[in-house]
Amino acid sequence: AQRVAAIEAEPADLEIVALVTELFEETLESAPLEDGNPCSDAGHGTATPDDFDTPDNLEIVARFVQGRVFPAWQSRTLDIGPSTCYEAIARAAGTNVRTDDVEARLADIGEIGEVAASYDFGGQQGLGAFGGGSSSANTTDGTDLTVREVYETLSELAAAEGAGSQDRKVDLLFGLVNRCSSEEARYLARLVLSEMRIGVGEGTVRDAIAEAFDVPGGEVERALQVSNDYGQVARVARDDGLEGLTQLDLAVGRPVQAMLAQAGTVTDALEEWEQAAVEWKYDGARIQLHYQPGTNPDAGATEVFSRNMEDVTDALPEVVEFAEETLEEAVILDGEVVAIDDDGTPLPFQEVLKRFRRKHDVEKAREDVTVRPVFFDCLHADGDDLLEEPLTIRHDRLEAVLCDGDERSRSPENVDGLSLLWQSDDPEKIESIDAEALEGGHEGIMLKNPESTYSPGRRGKHWRKRKPDVETLDCVVTGAEWGEGRRATFLGTFELSVRAGEAGDELETVGKVATGITDEKLEELTELLEPHITAEEGQEVDLEPEVVFEVGYEEIQTSPTYSSGYALRFPRFVGVRSDKATADADSLERLERLRD
Ligand code: ATP
Repeated sequence: AQRVAAIEAEPADLEIVALVTELFEETLESAPLEDGNPCSDAGHGTATPDDFDTPDNLEIVARFVQGRVFPAWQSRTLDIGPSTCYEAIARAAGTNVRTDDVEARLADIGEIGEVAASYDFGGQQGLGAFGGGSSSANTTDGTDLTVREVYETLSELAAAEGAGSQDRKVDLLFGLVNRCSSEEARYLARLVLSEMRIGVGEGTVRDAIAEAFDVPGGEVERALQVSNDYGQVARVARDDGLEGLTQLDLAVGRPVQAMLAQAGTVTDALEEWEQAAVEWKYDGARIQLHYQPGTNPDAGATEVFSRNMEDVTDALPEVVEFAEETLEEAVILDGEVVAIDDDGTPLPFQEVLKRFRRKHDVEKAREDVTVRPVFFDCLHADGDDLLEEPLTIRHDRLEAVLCDGDERSRSPENVDGLSLLWQSDDPEKIESIDAEALEGGHEGIMLKNPESTYSPGRRGKHWRKRKPDVETLDCVVTGAEWGEGRRATFLGTFELSVRAGEAGDELETVGKVATGITDEKLEELTELLEPHITAEEGQEVDLEPEVVFEVGYEEIQTSPTYSSGYALRFPRFVGVRSDKATADADSLERLERLRD
């Protein structure tokens, strides 16, 4: 507890790393277990919490300093509400202390650790090890409570369920608090309520592992990404050094953090990568599917995790059925689960939420809302970790995994559960994919660097969600062009203008919009605009300024092409503002303001 207090009191990041390094170096190894330590199994295979139930002291300490009891990939939680914690503290504090008293002190002091430390507990006189199970154990404020005992009791507490489990949790926590010194109780209370906050972040632990065990930071980082377990990485670095770390791999059944996206524009994506991989952005919830064939066909072969690595398998039987019907090899796939109507058309995100974390009445909920998975990435297939492979290779592998053997010749469009990927350097092609996505009821598009590797937990520049329109403009339609081919009877490309001049009664052009419009909509717009045609030349028509369109765009640029001196970059049709007359359309002045 003293060491943790010293870390908390230290303001400088580098000093914190030094203190955590020292703590790791001095944490004593646990006594060897009689039948070996199952944690040393770092290879493939379905990992279950039971395999990791006897961690070494260092594993425990590496998690505790970050305020975690269990590795991030495990769905296990303590599930202790604040009142359970207050009750345990009150009981341990003495016969005349009631939960109300703890709550009153909390209202006064505002922080549970401080409240816990304000009481005297039974362990006050002892000598012990809760400073980290280390040689620092013999500190004057320590008791005989070890990190291992704390961990084991908390594991027991996490496992308590069913009738009477709340009482059992209070009893177990009381048992621990009762043996704590005041300082130990401070950090125990914060640990169980997930409020550790001593300034030790993920980067601190990574740097401390590298320094304590003399291994390269980059390799620690990689090992953390694939194992998602700071404790395990610390122990492997100590016991097996660099060689051990390089052998840590992804394991089916152990979720990794999802790669995330930044907002971005088509312009930036093409400037940086020349080519962009373009995918539809599905409006659902992120899932990570782990499938292990043949282990136990009745249960456990398929696991589905949420973006936060929660186990959501039971809530999504369609995904499990999909995996069992489609997959043949051990895989980890990244994707989205989407709600669909009877025709397979995507439904809004809120519908998925009705299913996503549901624990009860799943079958009934399934009758109301159907979901289906769509996968856009493959992290592991048949023994190969693919994180370091470029996106295009991972996507090819994904396609192969989702086509069962004899159907490999069919085109990607027909592969169930596959998110399509187009590679393009042409902004217009990208626009048309966007329009198609919106038409199909999806959220828009994702732009990805085709060469990029998969970085778990990173919100880097390699995945970009196309920036939603922050502001739209209401423009007057002053011209149009007849379409071609199948669209020859529709007006297709619309000239947009904004109000200008002192009185705002002049019109200046700012661009043309042709994307984001379905055939059905074009027909409707043609009907609306045709009566306003004043002149025609070839495919081009002039229109009376009567109709106002709301348009989105990526940027406003200066441009000699249009009479306003500006051009909307990548304009998109949002809708007709039938509630607005020309006089209500946006002005050149507003456009200039938006540009700044
Ligand atoms: P944030 O990630 O910023 O917290 P969010 O959860 O709303 O916000 P966005 O950032 O808007 O998500 O978009 C990224 C998410 O889009 C992904 O996490 C994933 O769930 C979803 N998504 C849908 N289609 C794709 C795709 N083709 N590739 C990657 N992600 C996709």
